[in-house]
Amino acid sequence: FGTVQGLRRVADDEPAVLAAGGDSADRVTDLLGRMSLTDKIGQMVQAERAAVTPSQVTEYRLGSVLSGGGSAPPDNSPAGWADMYDAYQRGALATPLKIPILYGIDAVHGNNNVYGSTIFPHNIGLGATRDAELAERIGTATAEEVTGAGLDWTFAPCVCVARDDRWGRTYESFGENPEIATRMTSVIDGLQQGPAAIMATAKHYLGDGGTTGGDDQGDTQLSEAELRAIHLPPFKAAVDRGVGAVMISFSSWNGVKMHANKYLITDVLKGELGFTGITVSDWAAVDQLDGRPGFTRDEVATAVNAGLDMLMVPENWETFLGYLRAGVESKQIPMSRIDDAVRRILTKKAEFGLFEHPLADRGYAGTVGNAAHRALARQAVRESQVLLKNDDDVLPLAKSGGKIFVAGKNADDIGNQSGGWTLTWQGASGDTVPGTTILQGIRDVAGNGTKVTYDRDGNGVDNTYRAAIAVIGETPYAEGEGDRPGGLSLDVEDRLLLTKLSAAHIPVVVVLVSGRPLDVAAELGGMAALVAAWLPGSEGAGVADVLFGDYAPTGRLPVTWHRTADQQPINGGDGLFAYGYGLSFAERSPDTAPPSAPGTPRATASKLRWMASTDPGGSGVDGYDIFRNGTLIGARSGLSYPLGKLDPGVRYEFTVVARDKAGNRSAPSTPLVITVPIAGGCKTRHGPCVAT
Ligand code: BGC
Repeated sequence: FGTVQGLRRVADDEPAVLAAGGDSADRVTDLLGRMSLTDKIGQMVQAERAAVTPSQVTEYRLGSVLSGGGSAPPDNSPAGWADMYDAYQRGALATPLKIPILYGIDAVHGNNNVYGSTIFPHNIGLGATRDAELAERIGTATAEEVTGAGLDWTFAPCVCVARDDRWGRTYESFGENPEIATRMTSVIDGLQQGPAAIMATAKHYLGDGGTTGGDDQGDTQLSEAELRAIHLPPFKAAVDRGVGAVMISFSSWNGVKMHANKYLITDVLKGELGFTGITVSDWAAVDQLDGRPGFTRDEVATAVNAGLDMLMVPENWETFLGYLRAGVESKQIPMSRIDDAVRRILTKKAEFGLFEHPLADRGYAGTVGNAAHRALARQAVRESQVLLKNDDDVLPLAKSGGKIFVAGKNADDIGNQSGGWTLTWQGASGDTVPGTTILQGIRDVAGNGTKVTYDRDGNGVDNTYRAAIAVIGETPYAEGEGDRPGGLSLDVEDRLLLTKLSAAHIPVVVVLVSGRPLDVAAELGGMAALVAAWLPGSEGAGVADVLFGDYAPTGRLPVTWHRTADQQPINGGDGLFAYGYGLSFAERSPDTAPPSAPGTPRATASKLRWMASTDPGGSGVDGYDIFRNGTLIGARSGLSYPLGKLDPGVRYEFTVVARDKAGNRSAPSTPLVITVPIAGGCKTRHGPCVAT
């Protein structure tokens, strides 16, 4: 086996391992030299669990298996997943070259397919936190829970920049501004580094959030300069962080399907950005290239020649393999392209330690849904709440004395508060996963002094209550099922409830559980307070922490909030609430416009300096808040701040936000990024984290 010893059988029923020694490049070169065409094209195919058996993995030398949209084993526990994983992995290890598979899933807000996992807020809520360090910690926790179920690869993060909130995937986006998604790529470090590392995927390349009308899988009609300015930055950041995979988008750019776009995949992503990992297709996306059902040899050749390395072919993968082979044998697909794809796949398998440790690492099973991860999720929920209105300081609610009335379809429904991609692809209402509903959180946090009465439909409310809390909004959906070209109005049930509650003449606090801004302008007058809770996930107590003042809100809008959905795509325009808007306590609802964002900070000697903001609202700029990696580090009335000691090996991102005397805050400045190059990193998921 060249410089290393080759494959070594440990015991008859144990997997073979690639002997240690040499670096992964040597190993891969050696392995590639021994592979037949069957071995190579098999590596490039990813089949769906429900459409492939472990013995087919052996027979067809398949390189990967996925559980798409929550496709779970009958025993949906960490052990059930790990057993299933091992069965497929043993199938791979029974091939002549014993090349392990990568098993991929959509762990997009925690390891959301596995029962009992911690369900973190969806990305839109994380975008509201602007907290890059939090995202990284969530990545680490998610990697532990994914590893705990035996799996190696997540199709996350979605770094899409959602430009039209009628799009059904808006909640998978960190926000409308590329700056947020770029910042939140820190989640990739959490996923890919450290002892429980798994491979991450930046998706969907390129322009998935920019389609006309917010049409899922639609057409992004932009000039190349606009496409690069809005949609490319988070992918560049992901590549710079060493993301293992990039998933290509179902969508088109100016009428050309992304899966056929050699320029953007091969020239820009792999060439210009220097991406050395695996490009993976989206679900059967290659079948869409000619607009007719069923794979053809031409479609397969077009996608592979465009630069696709691994093809997600959930079903009919046998037919697909036949076309791939025919394409190579007829020289429609050059062998060099196949070798490049297989080299990339094997390299990632080696880097993520699959050759040394192919079987499930059951040591992490105990981390699935553990107290530490749930506490982290609760903190994420707190930070993601955006306080949009707070008349007469109705919030925070006092904990002692009196009665509170809770109502609404999203008050006591953990499925609704978790949204899509929770246990199943579309998610579902009801008691789907363990955790704490918002109602339960309110009961726990309000304490014994406060009597909490709940009626979903608002029956029984009267003026003996101090306040009513209405938890309303959307119910779960995923992908195109959530497209709402016709508008984003509140549903009839929610509007009836608000009417009923306002008739009681008590302050109504509205908690909006939704994946995006909904039309609230018409009802706003009847709301004493409005909190955007996004899709908080399994730890609903984080919402209550804000309502009762255990955590003063810090979240800021990751998207512009429209007055009516026909303002979409509004991005940065004149809506009901501006991008970056968010109140905290002890601040009055603003009656003036927020100041403009400060200029991009610069670093001079030991100081950070920026240009002053203008304040069109007129109450005067009162000062500036300085953020490092999304965390507030200080405030100044002048235009500079001491940089402090910067550690080598750490990437710093500084932004500045202006405040006016009325308490309004500007959008954040463009960040200043100071990167001290990282000399090493943790490549394998097993064993200590050692700098290389
Ligand atoms: C989605 C991807 C997802 C894949 C696998 C597709 O329909 O677009 O985001 O990773 O399915 O479940």
